[in-house]
Amino acid sequence: TRSEITYFGAGPALLPTDVLETAAKALVDYNGTGLGIAEHSHRSELAANIINEAKADLATYLDIPAGEYEVAFMQGGGTGEFSASVYNLVGAWVARQHAAVLKELGEAAEESAVVDALRKKVEAGLKLDYLVTGGWSLKAYQEAVRLLGPEYVNLVADARVENGGKFGKIPDQSTWKLSKDAAFVYYCDNETVDGVEFPEFPQALAPQPDGTGPIVVVDMSSNILSRRVPVKNYSLLFFGAQKNLGSTGVTVAVIKKTLLPPTVSQPSPALMRKLALPIPPIVLQYETIVKNNSLYNTLSIFDVYIAGQVLKKLLRTFPDKVDGQQAIADKKAELIYSALEAHPDAYKIVPDKTVRSRMNICFRVTKSGTIDESEKAFLKEATSIGLTGLKGHRSVGGIRASNYNSIPLEGAEKLAKFINDFTKA
Ligand code: PMP
Repeated sequence: TRSEITYFGAGPALLPTDVLETAAKALVDYNGTGLGIAEHSHRSELAANIINEAKADLATYLDIPAGEYEVAFMQGGGTGEFSASVYNLVGAWVARQHAAVLKELGEAAEESAVVDALRKKVEAGLKLDYLVTGGWSLKAYQEAVRLLGPEYVNLVADARVENGGKFGKIPDQSTWKLSKDAAFVYYCDNETVDGVEFPEFPQALAPQPDGTGPIVVVDMSSNILSRRVPVKNYSLLFFGAQKNLGSTGVTVAVIKKTLLPPTVSQPSPALMRKLALPIPPIVLQYETIVKNNSLYNTLSIFDVYIAGQVLKKLLRTFPDKVDGQQAIADKKAELIYSALEAHPDAYKIVPDKTVRSRMNICFRVTKSGTIDESEKAFLKEATSIGLTGLKGHRSVGGIRASNYNSIPLEGAEKLAKFINDFTKA
């Protein structure tokens, strides 16, 4: 039964049982309306309230600077955001260059002269910077290359290069090859497959005292809501819901207002075609989604509702908001890593100690015989005592304990004890 199991899957992940029980009731009859939450119109007042409350609670929990960001519920998952970030921020870059060209040439300049000048700027200066530190930032980088062509995409650093062809480290910031005035610098804060997490905001990307600095895009799909983040350092922060926030089906984009109208509007499709640059499908265009309060098209209000209930529970549980959750997340991770470290003959932690993820704890079992046999035995015994979902990602193998917010402290304690006991069996 549910109460006998602690599920360490990487996503979809465990959701709090009380949230699911409330949501199950709402699915049949929402607040005595006689209709379930998935049946009500997304244009209804109650749907708008669910969206607005979830947005406000997220802003409260994460201390998103008031008035400076928009929160959008997107569709298409984290993968959709790999594309959306490229389309929208390339558009914003072109819009800024367009404004500069009009200033240089004067508002009365011939359109063909404007386009020629812009084309030169694109050829000389359009760059998207990617830090590749694991499987997910690699996928984002590959999507940028696919959408734009390799000439516009710059690999800032590839973590595999100095690490025997495998992920598990973050290259020293002094080696990063950042472009000048990139349309953005992209990184993934927590690599779900490889168990690599940035220990803190990378100083190389920090804003200058005068407020200028790189336009930073971050994927926080697998560690959002688990630690404090310096939101003001980001222009775009996105995350799928299915790990720490809620159920699969909504993806959150937190977008700095300076990238949106009235400051910046996406260039016209005609102009982008002349520049041979892509335009976003309308469902991935942030300004459209934001303008319509995430209701440009039919949004799964049920998924927003679940996310909203998770946020309400977090706010109820932790008066000091994300800091309270962070203390517990850190403690759980520490328990599990300490158990592994206590038995260096039986376990090998995959990533370097300096970049170990608190959310996805990746290790190999080297106890006896082959690794393969040891890991099979580990998984079998773990499952038999209710510790499930521990198999590593198919691309890397090994064991992965995903230690998301919904894993209770007792769950982490049980796993730590099992890690210890297994070495004796
Ligand atoms: N980024 C990260 C860090 C992820 O862990 C995942 C999914 N596990 C994705 C992006 C892709 O998300 P989706 O499957 O929702 O497209």
